[in-house]
Amino acid sequence: MNDFVYAHTDPAELEEYREQVRSWMSENMPRRNHDNPWHPTHDDDAQSSRNRELQRRLYDGGYAAVCYPREYGGQSLTIGHQRIIDEVSMDFDMPLLFSVPTLSITGPTVLEFGTEEQKQRYIPAWIRGDELWVQFMSEPSSGSDMAGALTRADRDGDVFILNGSKIWSTFAQRSDYALLLARTNWEVPKHRGLTMFIVPIHHPGIEIHPIQMVDRTEEFCQEFFNDAIIPAANVVGQVDDGWTVASRLLFHERAAVGGASPYTQGRHRNRSADGLEDLAAMARRNGGTDLGRMRQILGRMETLSRVDRLLSRRVVRGIESGYFPAPAGSLVRLSHGLTQAERQTAAAEFQRDRALVWNPGESTGAYGVDFVQRQQSCIGGGTTEMARNIISERVMGMPREPAADRDLPFNQVPRSG
Ligand SMILES: Cc1cc2nc3c(=O)[nH]c(=O)nc-3n(C[C@H](O)[C@H](O)[C@H](O)COP(=O)(O)OP(=O)(O)OC[C@H]3O[C@@H](n4cnc5c(N)ncnc54)[C@H](O)[C@@H]3O)c2cc1C
Repeated sequence: MNDFVYAHTDPAELEEYREQVRSWMSENMPRRNHDNPWHPTHDDDAQSSRNRELQRRLYDGGYAAVCYPREYGGQSLTIGHQRIIDEVSMDFDMPLLFSVPTLSITGPTVLEFGTEEQKQRYIPAWIRGDELWVQFMSEPSSGSDMAGALTRADRDGDVFILNGSKIWSTFAQRSDYALLLARTNWEVPKHRGLTMFIVPIHHPGIEIHPIQMVDRTEEFCQEFFNDAIIPAANVVGQVDDGWTVASRLLFHERAAVGGASPYTQGRHRNRSADGLEDLAAMARRNGGTDLGRMRQILGRMETLSRVDRLLSRRVVRGIESGYFPAPAGSLVRLSHGLTQAERQTAAAEFQRDRALVWNPGESTGAYGVDFVQRQQSCIGGGTTEMARNIISERVMGMPREPAADRDLPFNQVPRSG
């Protein structure tokens, strides 16, 4: 972690910065439509190029990824500066596709473990809006058990040959590079034979198949690797020590989804409005006879959201300072997943039947779609069940779940197929 990120900043200086950001955004970023936050579109190409253009605007103005070091295209500013950008940008369209995972998950992982050459080559390209990244971690046979990866990378001189399959990668078809975890050594226990790679996505030997969801969007993809050749220079960290890199990637993911990462940019989502202000506005619009019940739900959501936000900050800062063990990041993941799912349930309830049936052009259907998909926040980035396991075993010190494959060389682990 770069020391400047958590350096103390004079509050007066931050207020001056807020004015600068507000004035620059008013002149340079498109306003967000709060009344119609959902822009139903299946045209992901348009969404991707719009995000690239907005990211470039932020970069030109000096407001992109400000917590990245200046030598790689950031501004070497503090998390306080980034939070001001986040607050002001609630009123503007932001390039959220760059925020997660490029800048806040894969980004800090490369910043921590990448070679100087990798950092010089890739980081400025994200911050300028030139390249989007994705994570190739989950596999058809191992999602929760990420260390059980079967995708293999076999060394051949200066290159590795990649074979296997990854799945559930968000917007891989619109991305340029991925961080990929592959098995490079089958003769050691599962956590000790993995390596992290930077993989160009649109590359010979890599096929990308978008997966159509029930609402006809294609958010996820499955990838197939058939003798794809990846230079050894693309290894991130050490060969066979990919679990160390993956563990930090998971930490950054928990910080990002828990709202405590210094590297996320902008807070709202493009689709249905899920901020508390939006819930309150919705409650006022749809008040009617149930106002008392709506107030109760709003009160509960306000409490949960505050606890979630403060918990996130405390845990992430505690891990960075060594006060908490790294697995405590699962507290953030658990709290955020549950809070988010409950918020989406509340939003759908406030919309009443308009979340189920809506007229063309109305945005209320987004809340119905979000309600149906509310479990996403309890699955993506590791499930809440796995978070509970980690908290009990590695934070509270309870006995570990039995695992027959923990100490066995991976090629001796019985598996089907
Ligand atoms: C919105 C979203 C975005 C995602 N984006 C990406 C991405 O960009 N890149 C990527 O690689 N992956 C991505 N994923 C995939 C995600 O990481 C996996 O879905 C997740 O890790 C769970 O793995 P699985 O789907 O294989 O479920 P499984 O591991 O098969 O689990 C099935 C069920 O069993 C439970 N379970 C499994 N093991 C245990 C255990 N030991 N104890 C208790 N319960 C257990 C799980 O909690 C779950 O309920 C995304 C998923 C979502 C929902």
